[in-house]
Amino acid sequence: MGAKETLWDPIAGFGVTFRTMFKKPVTEQYPFEKPQTAPRFHGRHQLNRWPDGLEKCVGCELCAWACPADAIYVEGADNSDELDADGNSQRFSPGERYGAVYQINYLRCILCGLCIEACPTRALTMTNEYELADDNRADLIYEKSDLLAPLAPGMEAPPHAPRYGDEKNYFRGEFVEEPARLTDLLKEGQS
Ligand code: SF4
Ligand code: SF4
Repeated sequence: MGAKETLWDPIAGFGVTFRTMFKKPVTEQYPFEKPQTAPRFHGRHQLNRWPDGLEKCVGCELCAWACPADAIYVEGADNSDELDADGNSQRFSPGERYGAVYQINYLRCILCGLCIEACPTRALTMTNEYELADDNRADLIYEKSDLLAPLAPGMEAPPHAPRYGDEKNYFRGEFVEEPARLTDLLKEGQS
């Protein structure tokens, strides 16, 4: 190495240091300040509801079949318009079937979004939530209760009778309240 390089290299190196000292720091203060994601960021999944609170999932398992990581487990079951022994509805979704068991294993999930593309009812979408770390394996298997969207004002937790008639009204987006709800009619018939 020549004398010129021996003198110049430390000056050039400190030049970078001095330039950086006057730039705005880019350090993120995570976890004290959570950074905003892009609006279409693929985070934790959500199982959505219709406006009356009934579940959109019909238990078809298409999401599970589409998943390349085998991270989803679904068990479908039949809805029923019969009331149970206590006079309560047994209907969780407007159609024939609903997702009785729904699990996503976040030890396997790669957040690719193929499951939400496969879902025919837009029951399954992804949120911007990225806090998916935990200290044990069991808590990273999310159950249906962990994934269901919270009840918005005006919604009622299933099971209950549909407010908007048959499933075609739901899929067409015709959310006009039925004049008398099925459960009310059935309960009146029993009294
Ligand atoms: S995001 Fe991808 S890996 Fe995760 S459950 Fe859906 S299909 Fe499977
Ligand atoms: S989330 Fe969608 S694709 Fe998966 S079982 Fe439910 S309706 Fe079918």
